[in-house]
Amino acid sequence: MTAQNDPHDDLHARHRAVLPDWLALYYDRPLEITHGEGRHVWDAEGNRYLDFFGGILTTMTAHALPEVAKAVSEQAGRILHTSTLYLDRPMVELAERVASLSGIPDARVFFTTSGTEANDTALLLATAYRQSNQVLAMRNSYHGRSFSAVGITGNRSWSPSSLSPLHTLYVHGGVRTRGPFAGLDDAGFTAACVADLEDVLGQTHGNVAALIAEPVQGVGGFTSPPDGLYAAFRETLQQHGILWISDEVQTGWGRTGDHFWGWQAHDAAGPPDVLTFAKGIGNGMSIGGVVARAEVMNCLDANSISTFGGSPVTMAAGNANLAYLLEHDLQGNARRVGGLLLERLRAVSAGLGVVREVRGRGLMIGVELVLPGTDAPSPEAASIVLETAREGGLLIGKGGGHATASVLRIAPPLTLTVAEAEEGAAVLERALRAAETELG
Ligand code: PLP
Repeated sequence: MTAQNDPHDDLHARHRAVLPDWLALYYDRPLEITHGEGRHVWDAEGNRYLDFFGGILTTMTAHALPEVAKAVSEQAGRILHTSTLYLDRPMVELAERVASLSGIPDARVFFTTSGTEANDTALLLATAYRQSNQVLAMRNSYHGRSFSAVGITGNRSWSPSSLSPLHTLYVHGGVRTRGPFAGLDDAGFTAACVADLEDVLGQTHGNVAALIAEPVQGVGGFTSPPDGLYAAFRETLQQHGILWISDEVQTGWGRTGDHFWGWQAHDAAGPPDVLTFAKGIGNGMSIGGVVARAEVMNCLDANSISTFGGSPVTMAAGNANLAYLLEHDLQGNARRVGGLLLERLRAVSAGLGVVREVRGRGLMIGVELVLPGTDAPSPEAASIVLETAREGGLLIGKGGGHATASVLRIAPPLTLTVAEAEEGAAVLERALRAAETELG
């Protein structure tokens, strides 16, 4: 009998005994996922689920995609890893692809093993380039869990330390429908946010290194600013020589359907100076990275490598996954199927007091929940929906922290079919109705 089939082997209790209390776990009875195929995964009890969270936006194309599995096993059969001190063909190939897709002129790519490390590197570059440890970040943002990344994360719930090595200045703009500028039209909202940015800069001494921002806030509840906001910010930033870092860890690779990168919704003045990525590119393999123009990337006056960043086995996964994504126009599929799913979720939510807003682009859809009859965020409603959906064979995500934990996050693999979108929407409808009944 394997440990996973042994009823006496309480993995949850063992997990709790040995792993940190703050390591978040979904569900009252946490799941142990054992395998997957396409858009589905199976748990250790043999239950099948439609995965509307794509792992955690990590399964970009599909679970157990044969093309990626083959590339990984062929590379693993040759060599798993040596060192980036030697030439690494799969790394050079993926860097070439990513550089040309990034839109950044004269781009250089540095691979890491996570989104956190990618953002850390971007901050290292920007602070060195600008000779300043002052950084602008968005309120309600999330950029990872290293010491410097938590220091620029704009929400105390997922930023456990305030002892940052950086001096961070927070600005408005990430959240469209709550906060002081809610209710303004797009142009008014953008103007108010630019005025806020200028005000913050006017109160600041010395150089500011960079603004780091997610084009669509991920952990913050899939909230989008109006298109063009970052182009408007960029004009102000350029007047001060401040770099724009676009954190594309959740929004990259066509997830948003209408654009390959999130920054492209803001493209009036060209690409960001620095772009960071992770999550979906490896389809589950741990790849992160930074793209910057050569002048910025090469400003570091030291030799440096990442021991595992660019490891051939992860790069093989990235190359195969990216090729599949482009060959099958999964960005187009995200736009089409995501558009239908958004419409369908809006239709099933109409008349439900527990739903405040259904928003999103492509296959990045947020459903914001409130206590019925109020405007108060309801993490409890989100928990009911998650548990009920799970019973109905559907996995979804939610935001982090407190207020944003009231937002359901829907981000399936980009190969999602129309039939699967319909199936998931039907389960979600029942789960939303259960929350409405229980809390109403
Ligand atoms: N940036 C964004 C926008 C993220 O959503 C995340 C993770 O959720 C990170 C950075 C950190 O990435 P990782 O967990 O791979 O370190």
